[in-house]
Amino acid sequence: MSNIVNEHVEKYIRGLVKENDEYFLKLETYAEAEHVPIIHKEVKSLLAFVVQSTNANSVLEIGTAIGYSASVFARAMGGKGKVTSIERRDDYHFIAKRNVEKLNYETEFDFRLGDALDVLDEIDDTYDIIFVDASKGHYQEFLDKCLDKLNDGGVIISDNVLYQGMIASDHFVLRRKKTIVKRMRNYLDYITDHPDFTTTLLPMSDGIALSYKRRL
Ligand code: SAM
Repeated sequence: MSNIVNEHVEKYIRGLVKENDEYFLKLETYAEAEHVPIIHKEVKSLLAFVVQSTNANSVLEIGTAIGYSASVFARAMGGKGKVTSIERRDDYHFIAKRNVEKLNYETEFDFRLGDALDVLDEIDDTYDIIFVDASKGHYQEFLDKCLDKLNDGGVIISDNVLYQGMIASDHFVLRRKKTIVKRMRNYLDYITDHPDFTTTLLPMSDGIALSYKRRL
């Protein structure tokens, strides 16, 4: 139970997201069996929606895991474009690299191993989409290091921003999560007030923030 969306609504929406591609089905099965956290089905269609409605052809992702969402982005870009993705766990990093080799895409995958707080300093490219899906207590720091890497007209997609409902109400906050909750609330205050961005919060999955960087 997510404390965000009614269970029956969530189930219904997920039922509408069909997947027929063996590659993606295999990764979903692996993630479930090995308890690898990957995006929920409704987020998968949201990522594709953002890519295609903005004509994006480059994505910077923080939090690769086994390369599932990186593959979703690549597919949404028609098997072209560029995906740079950062992961601090070496086992996941190598699995992700191996996984995308099975895709018959021209997409340029650039998987980086290390803490995003360090790796982001080494990245000079700019991107149409930045997907933040890593340690929830660090979103503000990720953002500070990403601001100059997002093209005008680009979108930041931040996952898990309502964190099991804890962000929206103290009623749900677990004691040991207090610091993360405080940091995430600060992040949401910051990004929703930022003059360069138009941000909307979607109460879907574990909470998504979409932040559009206005063209100057
Ligand atoms: N985006 C992936 C997907 O849907 O396929 C799932 C990512 S999973 C929710 C979060 C990942 O971020 C984990 O694999 C974790 O090891 C990684 N991570 C967390 N904090 C990180 C950091 N500071 N730097 C790099 N990776 C980090």
